[in-house]
Amino acid sequence: MFIAHLPAGYLTARQVARRLGVSATPDLILAGMAGGIFPDIDLLYAILIDHWSVHHHRYWTHLPLVWLAISAAAVLLFRTSDAARQPLTVFLLAVWGHLLLDSIAGDIWWLWPWLDSPFSLVVIPAIHSPWWLNFLLHWTFALELGFALVAVWLAWKPRHVRSGKLAQRSMPRA
Ligand SMILES: [Zn+2]
Repeated sequence: MFIAHLPAGYLTARQVARRLGVSATPDLILAGMAGGIFPDIDLLYAILIDHWSVHHHRYWTHLPLVWLAISAAAVLLFRTSDAARQPLTVFLLAVWGHLLLDSIAGDIWWLWPWLDSPFSLVVIPAIHSPWWLNFLLHWTFALELGFALVAVWLAWKPRHVRSGKLAQRSMPRA
């Protein structure tokens, strides 16, 4: 998954805000979108320094054990009253969402270091050329577009539609 990460982070922020009964402030939205794409910063290292010598999902930003440790530390270090708690929670949940999305058609080493084997829900067959057509023509790409469309819809739909006022206004009177 590549296109879905940013909108998925946005949706994570909105969902967490809703669950907490708070408004989705720019801080939370930014934290969600940053967490949604953060693991892929290893692409810079893979391209510029490591020259793809290993699958970039093997770097620490894609290792669930690392994020488990970071998440545990965050729970221990930040109290519920801390101002940074909510953005940090959103950021970490968006990172976990990233790892889950990457597990659909990518490889994530969920059980590393106990099991040095990646997990992927589906394998995209290499039947088209150029290589990127394999991704564009696979059903998982529709899923990615779905995340993007839902996020764009929620971000831009008019407030009166969001709150249901339009539905009330257009109801026929008896
Ligand atoms: Zn990734």
